Amino acid sequence: MAYKISDECIACGACEAECPVSAISEGDGKYVIDPATCTECGSCADVCPVGAPQAE
Ligand code: SF4
Ligand code: SF4
Repeated sequence: MAYKISDECIACGACEAECPVSAISEGDGKYVIDPATCTECGSCADVCPVGAPQAE
């Protein structure tokens, strides 16, 4: 299962640059993860200030 960004996301963009496979992009009001690309490395969760990316 991929990581998923919850509605807690404040759209700061910090996670996008940290993703080694470029699975994160800006969505409608928050950032989103492409589940087909995510390798579950956890880097996005490590840098997120609000804990929005969570393993499903
Ligand atoms: Fe990218 Fe890793 Fe986050 Fe998946 S868990 S979106 S691969 S940084
Ligand atoms: Fe949203 Fe967290 Fe990514 Fe910032 S680091 S865009 S708050 S998921």
